[in-house]
Amino acid sequence: MGEKEKGCLKDITGKSNIVNLNWRRIPKEIRCELINEVYCGHCDDCVKIIIYYIEENKYELILQGKCSICGKYLEKTIEK
Ligand SMILES: [Zn+2]
Repeated sequence: MGEKEKGCLKDITGKSNIVNLNWRRIPKEIRCELINEVYCGHCDDCVKIIIYYIEENKYELILQGKCSICGKYLEKTIEK
């Protein structure tokens, strides 16, 4: 499924600039890896997540979005 995209982050419609700043502080290559390697239980495979929103708590960033293949909701937490 040909998805044209330049930046990994263009799907993010962050509600909080601070959280996005913390996300952007992660090196770009690692961010791309994180986005491209999310396990989807529905596809039973490693898929790319389409991110809608990033949340943050004390210890982790939580990426929320959907599977790029089946469209199911996915969440991925990243330790800070
Ligand atoms: Zn899926």
